[in-house]
Amino acid sequence: MKIIDHIKQAKGTLVSFEVLPPLKGKGIDALYKHLDPLMEFNPSFINVTYHRSEHVFKKRADGSFEKVVIRKRPGTESICAAIMNKYNVDTVPHLICGGFSVNETEDALLNLQYLGIDNVLVLRGDAAKNETAFEPEPDGHKYAIDLLKQVVNLNSGIYLEEDLKATNKTTFCIGVAGYPEKHFEAPNMQTDLRYLKAKVDSGADYIVTQMFFDNEKYYAYVKACRDFGINVPIIPGLKPIYTKKQLTVLPKTFSIDLPTDLSNEILKCKNDEEVEQVGIEWLLHQSKDLKKNGVPVLHYYTLGKPHIVASVVKNL
Ligand code: FAD
Repeated sequence: MKIIDHIKQAKGTLVSFEVLPPLKGKGIDALYKHLDPLMEFNPSFINVTYHRSEHVFKKRADGSFEKVVIRKRPGTESICAAIMNKYNVDTVPHLICGGFSVNETEDALLNLQYLGIDNVLVLRGDAAKNETAFEPEPDGHKYAIDLLKQVVNLNSGIYLEEDLKATNKTTFCIGVAGYPEKHFEAPNMQTDLRYLKAKVDSGADYIVTQMFFDNEKYYAYVKACRDFGINVPIIPGLKPIYTKKQLTVLPKTFSIDLPTDLSNEILKCKNDEEVEQVGIEWLLHQSKDLKKNGVPVLHYYTLGKPHIVASVVKNL
């Protein structure tokens, strides 16, 4: 079922989770172990992130370096199908522009369709580890909107081979990313919103936000979107905080702020067990407030910490 239909048919706030594919070599049971404790909360859908290949330099015995390509977390599409099979829950694969030619993108979308997956979150992706800025493939997409338009075309039966006749139309429900604290490359919020509106006007069904720790930022963002004429559902993305290190890692990696009250509480903690407790309380407080304010879905980035998310959702 499409995410947008889950939202339309819901009688209250839904819950959804986001997981990473298992590290190569760990096997899918590692992921099931992660998901098992979360399934009692009947998530409406589960997102699976996409991780592109990386170039790394491996030192040879003679001291020289060899450039090798590694992919730490492959398998997003098939993992979505496996989760659907095992738990009978809808899944949302993330699909990015980075590392894909338009032909490979079309093949990936058709594979998803054959697997019975009718949702996709389309993203640009970040710069590869060996690049300073995002570089599309020579025959790939530069922005998420270009990828989105390819999905919209397939939904209309328009394939890359223009002379294909009587083509099958895919039926993807399309999600896109939004940034309550602005995407780090955008010169200002207005510009970022203009590009977000272009994605929605081109066919995005809903928006999922980058994580935030201050609900006021989410409410202000939703208002700014509505004032801008962006009227699709805006799903808040929520992440647990559980180590002191995250105080510096999260702002640096995701270009977000942590509220002073939260950082003060974390700084008082003697160890990461105490930080985890603060993180649980903060996330629970955030979740209750968002639910009270009628958000369509509470979307949790579970990221290796299912027990934290479980203890929050249990107490909602
Ligand atoms: P875009 O919408 O293309 O925007 C990128 C930047 O370009 C923005 O600054 C925007 O304002 C600007 N822009 C957009 N369109 C134009 C245009 N036409 N002309 C000029 N400027 C433009 N990354 C992964 O690799 N894998 C994942 O699984 C993944 N999941 C994510 C899930 C969520 C909910 C979020 C919020 C992010 C996720 N990311 C993921 C990270 C994402 O790929 C990065 O944030 C990336 O830098 C931007 O992606 P986007 O889809 O927002 O890009």
